[in-house]
Order: sequence, then structure tokens, then C-alpha cells
Amino acid sequence: MFQTYNNAVIVSQLKHAVDTKKLHHANLISSGPGEDGLPLGLTLARLLLCDTNTDCGTCKGCTRVNKLEHPDLNLTFPVVSGGATGTSDDYVKEFRSALVSNRFLDPDSWQQLISTKNQQLQIPVKEIQNLQHKLSLTAAEGRNRVLLLWMPEQIKSTASNKLLKLIEEPLPNTYIILVSHRKNRLLPTIISRCAPWHCRPLRGDSFNTELSSEQSATIKLLEMVYAPNLGAAITAKQSPEATQIEGFAQWMRTCYKGNPTEITGAVNELAALPKESLKTLIYRAQHFLERGFYHNVQATESGATDLGAINVQKLSGSVLPRGAQAITSALGSCLKDLERNVHVKTSITHTSYELHKAFRGLG
Ligand SMILES: [Zn+2]
Repeated sequence: MFQTYNNAVIVSQLKHAVDTKKLHHANLISSGPGEDGLPLGLTLARLLLCDTNTDCGTCKGCTRVNKLEHPDLNLTFPVVSGGATGTSDDYVKEFRSALVSNRFLDPDSWQQLISTKNQQLQIPVKEIQNLQHKLSLTAAEGRNRVLLLWMPEQIKSTASNKLLKLIEEPLPNTYIILVSHRKNRLLPTIISRCAPWHCRPLRGDSFNTELSSEQSATIKLLEMVYAPNLGAAITAKQSPEATQIEGFAQWMRTCYKGNPTEITGAVNELAALPKESLKTLIYRAQHFLERGFYHNVQATESGATDLGAINVQKLSGSVLPRGAQAITSALGSCLKDLERNVHVKTSITHTSYELHKAFRGLG
């Protein structure tokens, strides 16, 4: 089994369904991004492709699934446009290595890995057209064939009907596993034709267990910023330079000091980020500060809320409840501005001064 953190029940139900040959040919696993969805999908794939039908973890079939190199495991996932073929074939190597090193891989981490620009992830029409052909080939090992499709919600709407057709006309010994993080965006007809497996949210101990090689203050910080998205926390741990923790801390320090020249510098740096990254950064800033101010501060070790020169715990002591509300609302309107394509520098500058006032209780 691939480790999951609150879904042992689903794992045993899947195992039972495979053992008794009652598994539906189309399965829809839904979970929050960076939670149990992908590990469950991989577990089901291994159950179906194990040479001894036991998910032993050591046979040739299981080993190949572990490396995502099994010839009868078809991986389909969203990509950004611009590759040679315009399908997921362009990024198969990157996807394998990303998922092998982080089986809780979340959409943001994946997007940032394959694109430095502000590009949406999508599953193009061509991809779904190719699937029909790929799946109709005889299984290389003469047994089951598995399609693991991550984020069916990113399929272009014109291709959704093609996926529906695949699901409605099952091929022998072929199993479809959809792993979705936004089930409500799927066609109702797709949802109704799949066996539903709805994941429960991750348990609180998942961060401690998964990140156990880190110091406890680091784990607490990652949990405060990313929970319940364990996949994003693992990415942050693996490549701290690629995540926005430092950028966020720097911006907060600058807002706290309120020096106009430094604020302009920080604004220029932030405005140069791809818009999706900027939105993620602001969303996480809001999340972090809210947790810091409203929930965790009293009970958390000071180390966990210390971002270098800015200590949220200390800061919260000097900010009135009114200030905390002002912070939430400033970051909230900034996010709305970015959605509405308001001039980025203007919005970030305004937000920076609002945060300064809030931090100093001047709001
Ligand atoms: Zn096996």
C-alpha cells in the first residue's frame, strides 16, 4: 500500500473489491489537493497490476508500478501548452519523477515544476482522443490494463464527452481510475457512471509522520502554512528556494517596517512573479496570519511562528483584534483585485500600506 493518512477503510474496500472481482471498471477518487487522492489511486493501480494479485509490493509488477514504469499503467495528467506533442507525453519523465518523490503531489507544485509562466494546467482534447487508441491495445503483460487520470476537471469541456464515451463503453480487463480535486466541475453523467470513493481529510498526525526528518519547529511552520495540503508541504521541504516562504516573510518584514523605498522594492519583486504564484503567495499569507492570530499562537512553540526577523507570535501580541481583521480584509481585497485584473503593482502597494497600518495598530 502507498501510505495514506485517513482512508484505511477505502483501502480495504478497494482490496476487497479487487479480490472478489467486483471492482467497477470506472472509479472516481476525490480528495483535497495534496491529500490522499493520488496515493489511493496508486494503491488501486498496484492492486490491479501485482503479479500475485496481493499488492505484495515486491514482485515485478508492483516494482514497476512503484517506479510508474509499468507498461500497462497509463498515466494521464494535466500539462501546460507549448510541448512538442501538446499532450502529457511531453512531460512523462517529469511527472514520474515528481510523483515518485512526492506521491501527494498537488496541482500548484506540479504547475510550478513544468512552467515558470502564468499558465493554466489542462488536459487537451488530443490527449483524450489518444486514450481510446492507447487503451484498445492488448495489455503488454496479458493481464489488466489501468488508466490513472489525474484531475479530470482540467479536461477541456469539448473532450469531456469523449471521456464519458470511454467510461460508457468499457474495454475488457481495463480499469479507469480518476483522481479529482474538484469533483463538482465534472459532468454529472461522468460522476454517475463511476464508483465514488470520497476521501476523508488528512489526520493531524500526517505532517509529523511524513516530515519526520525535519525539526519540530519546521514541521509546525509547514503545517501552519500548508495544512491540509501535505503535497505542498513536501514540495516546500524538498525545494525551499522554489516555494514562497522566504518571499512571504520578506514582504511581511517590509510591511511591518513601512519604509516607502523598501515597500516599492518589495512590490516590484512581487509583481514580477507569475500571477498564479502571486495569488498562491497571498492566499497562503492570509491563511498563515489568520492561523497565527486566531488559532495557534498561544499553543504553539515560538519557533514555529518565527519567520526570521518577523515573529508572528510577538506581532500578534501588539495587534488588536481590529488589526487582525484589517489584515484579513486587506489580503482578501488584494486577491479579489488580482482576479479582476486590477493593476498588480497598484494593488500590492495599497495592500502593503494597509498591512503596515494593521501591524502597527493604526488601522
Ligand atoms: Zn506484487
